[in-house]
Amino acid sequence: PENGGCGSTDSGVKVIVRMRPLSNNEEGETIVQKTSGDSLSMLGHQFTFDHVADTKSTQIDIFQVVGAPLVENCLAGFNSSIFAYGQTGSGKTYTIWGPTNTLLEETSHSNDQGLTPRVFARLFSRINEEQNIHADKQLMYQCRCSFLEIYNEQITDLLNPSQKHLHLREDTKTGVYVENLTEETICSMKDVTQLLKKGLSNRKTGSTSLNAESSRSHSVFTCVVESSCKSVDGLRSFKTSRINLVDLAGSERQKLTGAAGERLKEAGNINRSLSQLGNLINILAEVSQTGKQRHIPYRDSKLTFLLQESLGGNAKLAMICAISPAPSCKNETFSTLRFAQRAK
Ligand code: ADP
Ligand code: MG
Repeated sequence: PENGGCGSTDSGVKVIVRMRPLSNNEEGETIVQKTSGDSLSMLGHQFTFDHVADTKSTQIDIFQVVGAPLVENCLAGFNSSIFAYGQTGSGKTYTIWGPTNTLLEETSHSNDQGLTPRVFARLFSRINEEQNIHADKQLMYQCRCSFLEIYNEQITDLLNPSQKHLHLREDTKTGVYVENLTEETICSMKDVTQLLKKGLSNRKTGSTSLNAESSRSHSVFTCVVESSCKSVDGLRSFKTSRINLVDLAGSERQKLTGAAGERLKEAGNINRSLSQLGNLINILAEVSQTGKQRHIPYRDSKLTFLLQESLGGNAKLAMICAISPAPSCKNETFSTLRFAQRAK
């Protein structure tokens, strides 16, 4: 794992660390230093990843590193996902969706705009290009989106939140899917931003921000991109690939002490689903490096079962590990870097 080099593309898992700036009320010196484009040091420990984005990195930089390649991978037919991992307050939501007000069309050129709207702006412009280039083959694309939340191992439809406790099903033809989940066809940026705004406003939020339920749930935005074109024999052929953008639950260890009943069960579920995702990515990296067969435990959590077809095989993954460089976040930051290292 150490001398990563360009091994990243082999395993299909790309690991990026993004350090947010210190906030106004954080004291002291930053405890993490970027040492090169792909390495950093923290309290005498050296870490190497595919890319390190420091406190000066912009939303555009992150788009260039993971967003633009995601679009190309998707158009090339690969299921492609970006996950944001990290403790609550480390910048996951800022990175994946961006501030909600930057979704408004008037501010679509805001510097703060997140990865998701940028990805779709690129996707639409690339689809246009491709359709023009391959007009003779009548190349056509169709995009369908869904937005869900997994909270305490329960799936809620963020586009229709009265639909809670949705079930995961498996079909031999279509694979794993969520029964009754809303899917909307999108044709423009306006369609996407409306879906995002609607879904984001339906996320769970607790009464106190410290214990916000949104920090204990995974939000998953999925776009199914279907293309069809006329093949040599005159028949139409179809291709499907998926884009998943995932804002994971806060990685801080949920305290089991003092928790009882539902809260205790919930804390256990969150710890488990994140560590299962970590284990799974670890196994996938190992399988692709060694070529050895191993049992891949997709069914251990709703998140990995749902994303099964976007994790294994030829799928492309980018894991953005968000960290805070503040001294007060030392333990969580170190634990995120260890998680990130393990994913390599
Ligand atoms: P998380 O989703 O991991 O809990 P947030 O994305 O909500 O964290 O970020 C916490 C705070 O830090 C927010 O106010 C956000 O705007 C700010 N923030 C996070 N990352 C950055 C960044 N790279 N640049 C500027 N502000 C950031
Ligand atoms: Mg968040």
